[in-house]
Amino acid sequence: MPSRLQPRALAKVGLDCVFAGAVVAITVAGGFGLQALLAVAPSASLFSCGVMYVAWRRGIAAAVAAIVMAILAFDYFFLPPLHSFAIRAHDVPQLVFFAAAALFVAYLCDSNRRINHARRRLELELRASHRRVAEAQRELQQTVDSIPAMLSVYRPDGIHSLVNRTWMDYTGLSLEEAARKGGTLFHPDDPERETWRQALASGRPMAAEAPIRGADGTFQWFSIRRAPLRDAGGRIQKWFSIGFNIEDRKIAEDALRDREARLAATERELRLTLDLIPTLAWRTAADGLAEYLNQRWLDYTGLSLEAARGWGWISVVHPDDRAQLHDRWQEMLASHKPGEIEARMRRLDGNYRWFLFRAEPHRGNGGEIVGWYGTNTDIEDRKRAEFELQRSRLYLAEAQKLSKTGSFAWDAAADRHQWSDETYQIAAIEPATVVTTDLLLQRIHPDDRLKMINELGRAKDGAEAWDYEIRMLMPDQSSKQLRVVAHRLHRGDEAGEIVGALMDITETRRAQEALNAARNALAHAGRIATLGEISATIAHEVNQPLAAIVANGQACLRFLDRPAPNLDDVRGAVEWIVKDGNRAAEVIRRVRGLMTKAEFERRQLGLESVVAEVVALIQNEIHSQGIVLRCDFGAAPPVMADHVQLQQVVLNLIVNAIEAMHQVVDRPRMLTISTSCDTAGRAIVAVEDSGIGVPDDPQALFDPFVSTKPNGLGMGLSICRSIIEEHGGRLWATANAGHPGATFRFTLASATELARAAE
Ligand code: ADP
Repeated sequence: MPSRLQPRALAKVGLDCVFAGAVVAITVAGGFGLQALLAVAPSASLFSCGVMYVAWRRGIAAAVAAIVMAILAFDYFFLPPLHSFAIRAHDVPQLVFFAAAALFVAYLCDSNRRINHARRRLELELRASHRRVAEAQRELQQTVDSIPAMLSVYRPDGIHSLVNRTWMDYTGLSLEEAARKGGTLFHPDDPERETWRQALASGRPMAAEAPIRGADGTFQWFSIRRAPLRDAGGRIQKWFSIGFNIEDRKIAEDALRDREARLAATERELRLTLDLIPTLAWRTAADGLAEYLNQRWLDYTGLSLEAARGWGWISVVHPDDRAQLHDRWQEMLASHKPGEIEARMRRLDGNYRWFLFRAEPHRGNGGEIVGWYGTNTDIEDRKRAEFELQRSRLYLAEAQKLSKTGSFAWDAAADRHQWSDETYQIAAIEPATVVTTDLLLQRIHPDDRLKMINELGRAKDGAEAWDYEIRMLMPDQSSKQLRVVAHRLHRGDEAGEIVGALMDITETRRAQEALNAARNALAHAGRIATLGEISATIAHEVNQPLAAIVANGQACLRFLDRPAPNLDDVRGAVEWIVKDGNRAAEVIRRVRGLMTKAEFERRQLGLESVVAEVVALIQNEIHSQGIVLRCDFGAAPPVMADHVQLQQVVLNLIVNAIEAMHQVVDRPRMLTISTSCDTAGRAIVAVEDSGIGVPDDPQALFDPFVSTKPNGLGMGLSICRSIIEEHGGRLWATANAGHPGATFRFTLASATELARAAE
């Protein structure tokens, strides 16, 4: 610092010396002037003036320099010896006095100068500080005004003494108006007024939230804080107040409160809904611990909400299902995906029922799982139904296996075949093979393929029912006889599905054939037996023409032994012989016809001729029994039947009728055989007798081995019925109405009806 100040100080000293020198020089000049003009010897006081001037202008240092220079100049120019610095002794006091006086005056002048200088500087500083204060006040006002809060200052009595721009802008009041009616800004009912009154009284700071009326008359919420400013003595000088507009926060808070209230109401409603919905429902936290179970759930299980919370609910799950349920639930929690599982749950009464547990994750706004919602649905009935279904499926499969019957469904439009296991088994096709119509046709016996194609084609023609037999080729080239029965199942859709069953009737067919053979043999035996019974009649039938032949032969011989034989007589006798021979041959032909084991052959024939042939054969028997025979042939249509079998039926019925009249002695023995046509166009044959009659329910007579005769086999009617039924007809017996005896009838479809049905 000194090194920096030195040049300035030196410069000042230099300047002071120059200034002092200049003034002294002027003073010297003045002295010469006075001397010249006024002839007055200049005095030391002239130089005092110079020193005073120097001291006034440049301070004490320059004044000292001026004093020294003035003494030297005064001595040199004006004190004798002139122009010499030598000082006479008696001048020394004058010069010392001058120096002391000049120094004193210089000191005074310098002091005065300093004081003036200091005053001037002070004045300047004061002015500057006034300016700064005004500036600071303006800045403060601006700052206070620009604060986005309502600032105000109160007198100790609570009257406004300052308000900022924000305050005025909001309230629309000036400071004067505020001082007059500041209190009216608050709502009359607002507790803030009371709080403010209490703060003023107690002198303690206050904080409140209150609505303040704005310039437009509406109220907005403010957070207000007020604190007192005290002087050193603790007396309140003023109150500072700041108010923040919290209207937005209040609105947000109100909205939040509103939303919370709505949320609470919604939750209440949700709970109520959950409690009322007719299912067991629950909610868990994100970690799977149960938080809430609805009233129905609690009512059902009898658990309290506290007991069921967390993992408590698992206590009502069937012990056998717990581990599985636990694992599955953990799996779902880990996968974050909805899922379901079935398990048994204990009811309040201790019974377990099957339930479907279904859970769905509930996600927050960020997509994270915040909990799970779930339901338990009672599926006991469905489970039972499933169990029953499974059982009946097993039964069905077993029944199908035992009965060798398979089932199938065929969606003709989509050509989709669905087969049961037994169907695959019957068809000898690997189960689970996808069956197509082509595959099916490949397995059909080549001779039946066309038939199969026709049957399949009927589906397209809209046929509703199927019943046909078909042969299927087995891998070992053997064939199976199948009977297919199906119908169309309509389930609302147009085409519907064809559902049916196929039966392996290979064995049945073989048994049927064996049965047919046995029955034919039995029928044959029956015919032989019947013929045996009427053998006497037959012998008589044959004997009669034979006796006539013998008699006519003998007559013929007699005619030829005459000397002149009459050839006309001989011819006549021979003609009789031929006629009788033919008659006997005819009887034998009929008997042979009945005795032959001819193959079953259907052809068109008239029932009258069948009846007539049988009657011709047994006519003698009828007459020998004293029976009155009546044949009443109506308009019976021709039928398609086996000639011999039909003869056997008629013969059997007539023989039975004859036998039924054996014991009848008290009334005429009447046998009426009639043919006619019923209302449906079928041919009817009725054999009516006046015998002992049949029981009220004559059905049992048709069972095999039912006989009332000592030597009877009881097979006749049984064979007759099976023959008629095989021809598509019906045989039955009725007691005669109003008179004794019974009538046996059978019907047969007319040949034309059969032909029409076959088309
Ligand atoms: P069978 O003649 O060997 O007894 P059938 O089957 O021909 O066997 O007859 C069974 C039974 O039906 C006879 O025993 C008889 O009791 C009864 N029956 C058959 N025809 C007649 C009829 N016309 N009147 C009364 N009973 C009859």
